[in-house]
Amino acid sequence: MSEIMAGPGTEPQQRLLAAGVRPTVARIGVLQILETEAPRRLTMDTVFHHLLDQGLGLKHATVYRALRMLVDHGLLSREWRNGISGAKALYGLMTPDAGSCGVEIRCKECGHAVNINDISLHEQLRSLVRDGGLELAAQPMTILGRCIRCEQCSSSTSLPQSR
Ligand SMILES: [Zn+2]
Repeated sequence: MSEIMAGPGTEPQQRLLAAGVRPTVARIGVLQILETEAPRRLTMDTVFHHLLDQGLGLKHATVYRALRMLVDHGLLSREWRNGISGAKALYGLMTPDAGSCGVEIRCKECGHAVNINDISLHEQLRSLVRDGGLELAAQPMTILGRCIRCEQCSSSTSLPQSR
């Protein structure tokens, strides 16, 4: 296997490790390609062929798994584009800015959480917060709430039903 040397600056290897992902050749390769191509978004096939060009003859399944893994860990973003042959996934780099655009809504009772990754929402929040003289911390924001299940539990105990 050929060793891919990590370049200076935003070393893909470091970014993988920081995200808790074991840096494999496929994952480093995928990340490097999308870094080079950013802000363009690529389909899996394009990524696959870039890897081939670099002499990395990886299996489709390996590339697909690497892409999914990186999306799951917030290093890449995926969007769906509708085409004639159905929806196609486009993969792009999650910029450090966009990476912190997560808003987590967490149930304060049971910890059940929903993550919302919406860059425009984040931008809007950021400009609102800036108006107030603050800067958003570079981590997902957490909004505390209560999930439907906990809501139902508490309403059935605290509010006696008329029977
Ligand atoms: Zn809950």
